[in-house]
Amino acid sequence: MVLILFGAPGVGKGTVGTHLSKNLNIPLISSGDILRRNVKEETELGNRAKSFMEKGALVPDEIIIKMVKEEVSGLKKGFILDGFPRTLNQAEELEMIMSNSSYQVIHLEAQDNFLIKRLSERRICKNCGAIYHLVNIPPEREGICDCCRGPLYQREDDQEKVVKERLSVFHSETKPIVNYYRKKGVLKSVDGSLPLQKIVNLIKEKIDHDSDKEQKGN
Ligand code: ADP
Ligand code: ZN
Repeated sequence: MVLILFGAPGVGKGTVGTHLSKNLNIPLISSGDILRRNVKEETELGNRAKSFMEKGALVPDEIIIKMVKEEVSGLKKGFILDGFPRTLNQAEELEMIMSNSSYQVIHLEAQDNFLIKRLSERRICKNCGAIYHLVNIPPEREGICDCCRGPLYQREDDQEKVVKERLSVFHSETKPIVNYYRKKGVLKSVDGSLPLQKIVNLIKEKIDHDSDKEQKGN
């Protein structure tokens, strides 16, 4: 199964994806994490991606498609995608990458004001990438990761000015994909402002429900 988590920056794709990945026992592929890893390791693609990310702009399709393709090749039992696709062109490329495996798209929805506030309170572990929220998912010890004891930091692109740019890019370049998937009949919406566990349960119900239907239909 391929599950695509779709939604604006800060809506919780990464956090929800981490839980679902453990629950369903399939890997989570986050385009943002792949990019940040490449930037950190100063790979050729990473060096080219860096300036786009700092501005809150999208990295050129050609770069990210290459990275995602490499990452999912050989994942026979499926995967969860977070942050990809983000343009219509990426969505079309993904069809080819997945060839004929079935997939579903979960659209996590929330208002911009809610997302701006949430991103300002997001903290990430420098070591393992675990995601925290100062109010909703605080670490046990301030500034320290529960999982690996690494230091927590605020992503540079989570500053309000860059967040606003990312949201505007989302509305102009990424949101149109919703129609593409709606037409294909694979889109399900979930309220991204609900508590984390509720969202995870809703998504699990929606996917289960679907496989039930498929079985009954056969
Ligand atoms: P968020 O979903 O919170 O915006 P991500 O970690 O997914 O954060 O992405 C961070 C940045 O990485 C984006 O602002 C963009 O520059 C780049 N990026 C991630 N995924 C893609 C993609 N599929 N296409 C183009 N750029 C991407
Ligand atoms: Zn950690």
